[in-house]
Order: sequence, then structure tokens, then C-alpha cells
Amino acid sequence: MSDDAPPPPPPPQPLRGVCGLVNLGNTCYMNSVIQIVRAFPEWAAIYTDQSLIDRIKESPTGPAMPLAASVTHAFIELTQSMWACKSAMVCRPLAFYQKIQEAVRGTIYEDFGRPLPHDGHEYMTYLLDQAHEGMAAPTVTDSPNDASPATKAWADIWARGHSPISEATFGLDRVVCRCNACGHESVRWEHFNMLKVPIPGPGQTLADVIATERAPLLIAEYKCDKCGPGSTTLTREFHRLPPNLIVVFDRFTETRQKIHTAVAYDGSPISFTPHFAADADHRSRTWIYEPLATLDHMGNHFGGHYACTVRNFVEDSWWQYDDMRATSVRGPDFGATTYIIVFRRQSSGD
Ligand SMILES: [Zn+2]
Repeated sequence: MSDDAPPPPPPPQPLRGVCGLVNLGNTCYMNSVIQIVRAFPEWAAIYTDQSLIDRIKESPTGPAMPLAASVTHAFIELTQSMWACKSAMVCRPLAFYQKIQEAVRGTIYEDFGRPLPHDGHEYMTYLLDQAHEGMAAPTVTDSPNDASPATKAWADIWARGHSPISEATFGLDRVVCRCNACGHESVRWEHFNMLKVPIPGPGQTLADVIATERAPLLIAEYKCDKCGPGSTTLTREFHRLPPNLIVVFDRFTETRQKIHTAVAYDGSPISFTPHFAADADHRSRTWIYEPLATLDHMGNHFGGHYACTVRNFVEDSWWQYDDMRATSVRGPDFGATTYIIVFRRQSSGD
């Protein structure tokens, strides 16, 4: 080789975890949701944790649990194969789909076993519930006596079963109903794994619709414990947010019409600190979030199509998945097809 020869080009790098999914017949909703859930960084800790997988395989007792455990196990095996993929391969999620068909038989989710179009938001709720129930184990540690009410409420919620999914995707609200006549307050704690926000109106931003979701609500018909029938004002404040915050846009009306208005958002980092309670003590209060994944729904309610865009955190690159097709993109597009945005907390600033 002479001295002035150009250096050889670097060998092509295999891409870890870039893997499309075969459509098994109207399963674009399922394929997109699988891509999004496996993109949670916590999922990498789950599918590589052999002791956790062994425990799931042993199937906990209880009427619903064995099915949730078998769905979770099949989902782990599918995502293991997908993460083992190098350079844009394709997987056929048939074994996983068959487990779902088996698990939903005779339940309210029976339709998920049929080759029909389904709602991606409902399917994501179902899959996360299955994964939580399939991995849940009772918590062994009590919260200390001097723990805050929010910390105690959180421990109570998960006392029967706690899982990596509860930590990764659930937040905690304090909901206060204040009587408009006498000022009496009743307080309850609610956990949630999705924020359902309205479609932005003209000129509204993402921050505006989150503020709308958090706005005090007047409830005209209410019975106060102290002074009887009257009205109340309900306020909802964050006490804790998960590292993966799922925001669902309310695109479908009660009559199943679709609202096609675009979501105006440029993908810049976002803070939820203004919507935290003044006395919230969880560290998530100061977290800054950025997009991790988006679910897009094209077309109308019936016969529409789902695709998604997710960040591959191993390769630090963005991919759009449309069933089998994986396309490298600069980042998600937000617009008239945006149905769900998953926000991920930035890793600094804990
Ligand atoms: Zn009252």
C-alpha cells in the first residue's frame, strides 16, 4: 500500500435492535405498540434479567395471573429476538400473538384475538397491564413512619403487587374536591399511566393542552360530607411522574369520529414542574422530558393504519416502523396523525 492511498472505509456497523414486524392481518396497531414498549430503557433491564424471567415462568398463582405471566413471557422472548436483530431484520410475532389469543379468550379483551383493526391506545393499556400483572410481586419494604402522605399512598397502591412496569410508567396524582359552599376538602390519591389530553385548538401548544388537562374542574352535582348537596371544585396535582410519561391525544369522539387537527409541537424538551403540588417531594418534580416515541394513526377510525417512530437508545438513533419496514429518520414528526407521544425523562438532573 502506497503512502498516499486513502484509508479504507470503516466496515459497516451492525445496528442493534433495528427490527420490523410482519403484519399478521390488521395487526399494525399491535406491531406499533410492541415497538414503543420495547423502546423503554427499562425494558432492556427486564428482558436481560434471567431471575425475573425464571420467576415469570414459574407462573404466580391467582386466576388471571398465569395468563398475564404467559403473555409477559412471550413478549419478553419476542423483544429478545428483536434486540438480537442486526441491520434491519424482520421478526414474525406469531408466537406472541397466539399467546394473546389464548389469554383474551372469554375476557372483555376477546377482540384483541381477532384479526380486526383495534385502537392503539387501548392495546397499549392492555399490554402494559399484562406486563405489570405478569411480573408483579408483593413489596416487602414498609414506608417509614415519617414518610410523606404521597410516599405512603404510593406504597399502599403497590402493596399487593409491584413490578418494573409500575416504576417505569406510573405517576401519582393527589385529587382534592373542595366544597364551593363550606370549603370542606376531601382528598384521594390516584395512580395513572397515561395522560389523556384534548386535541390542541387553534394556536394552542402542547403545554396548553397539558394545562387544560390539569385545570380545576367545576362539578355541579356533588354531595358535601359537611353541608350536603352543592357544587365542588376538583383539582388534580402531580406528586410523582414516571420516567416514561405516556400522553394520549383525544382524537376519537364518543361517536368514533376522528379529529384530524395537527398537534403543534417541535419536539423540544418539556417540564411538568408547574403542575406539581407545592408540597410534592418526589425527585421527578424537576425532571425534564423529551420525546422517546410517537404512535401515529393514519386515516379514519375504521380501516386506518398505525405506524410509530421510536428512539433506539442503544444506537442513539430514530427509526420509523411501519410493520416490516424500518426507516432511519432524524426524529418524530408531530402533526395531524400524532395519537400518542411517550416522553422520556432526560438522564441528567436526577
Ligand atoms: Zn360543604
